[in-house]
Amino acid sequence: MQTPVYICEEKLLEKNLKILEYVQNRSGAKIILALKGFAMHSTFDLVGEYLHGCTASGLHEALLSKEFMNKETHTYAPAFKDEEIEEIAKISDTIVFNSPTQFKKYSKIAKTINPNINLSLRVNPECSTVEVALYDPCAINSRLGTTLKNFDESLLDDINGLNFHALCEQNVDALESVLKAFEKNFGKYIDKVSHINFGGGHHITKDGYDVEKLIEVIKEFRSRHKNIEVYLEPGEAIGWECGYLVSTILDIVNNGMDIAILDTSAEAHMPDTLSMPYRAEVRGAGVANEKKYTYKLAGNTCLAGDIMGDYSFAQPLKVGDKVIFEDQIHYTFVKSTTFNGIKLPSLAILRKNGDLEIVKEFGYEEYKSRLS
Ligand SMILES: *Cc1c(COP(=O)(O)O)cnc(C)c1O
Repeated sequence: MQTPVYICEEKLLEKNLKILEYVQNRSGAKIILALKGFAMHSTFDLVGEYLHGCTASGLHEALLSKEFMNKETHTYAPAFKDEEIEEIAKISDTIVFNSPTQFKKYSKIAKTINPNINLSLRVNPECSTVEVALYDPCAINSRLGTTLKNFDESLLDDINGLNFHALCEQNVDALESVLKAFEKNFGKYIDKVSHINFGGGHHITKDGYDVEKLIEVIKEFRSRHKNIEVYLEPGEAIGWECGYLVSTILDIVNNGMDIAILDTSAEAHMPDTLSMPYRAEVRGAGVANEKKYTYKLAGNTCLAGDIMGDYSFAQPLKVGDKVIFEDQIHYTFVKSTTFNGIKLPSLAILRKNGDLEIVKEFGYEEYKSRLS
């Protein structure tokens, strides 16, 4: 097998989708995929069997939603621009504005282009529960969503929906806090709209997530607010633990310890491991010194900090061995880069029948075509 390659297991993806289907069936909420976290469109026939569509952050994701899923497309951007708004309006079922000024600037054009479009406003419930500021939409001075102070009641005649997105990798207790803040601040507007979108960041498919409680929270909300459609738009929960990144050891050097150089890169192919940061699990490996042979695993770019971390193995590693990073399907290939000219990992799907299908390979072309 050529490496590096991200391998998505269809069986595991479907397991996630079935959990989300259960939430939809029991709670009455609709779930759409946030493309920002997972956009392997060769799986969208399957994803579309379970979910209601996609949430897109701007024109390109909206186009991808339309082309490969063709169910509902909800498009949000912190700010839209003149040259894209008409095309976005044409292909979106819902357009979500970030501020009253953007709403006023573009809602009429959007309605003219697409009379059936839903107009929504993203609000900021100002309830911070995410520990890492980089991922906290309610962090201090956040640009994301309209605060109560900036809410413009003159828009209410035209607004069809309200969105909030305030979570990241969280359980239902965090949703309950945010929902409480949302209803406290914006409760008087809820029954004037037809849908409320609870955003993403719900770690629904992770072991230990309280799915029954989520269903209860949504049902209770829907009983407080009759005839309001509820949406959730997770990204990570769809791609969670449904595949891995396979790499090959190219060389082993020693500088105070053994260092294995891989044909992949933390910086270019697993960027969240450096920015969150978090430590990716490696199949068969433990933490440093837990097993007999400890190595620093490192990437094949010239960035000094392109390092996955220290891992230990029961057997010594050798050049040519495969190293498999677990859970590398969400927020990986949607963010990967050709930094340093490094080859992008191929994309593959392990089908339910056991066939491994390489759905996309990359080369020099992808590097060159982004430069001039
Ligand atoms: C990122 C994002 C999501 C998806 O978040 P996950 O953490 O991947 O579930 C949903 N909605 C909005 C507005 C987002 O920015």
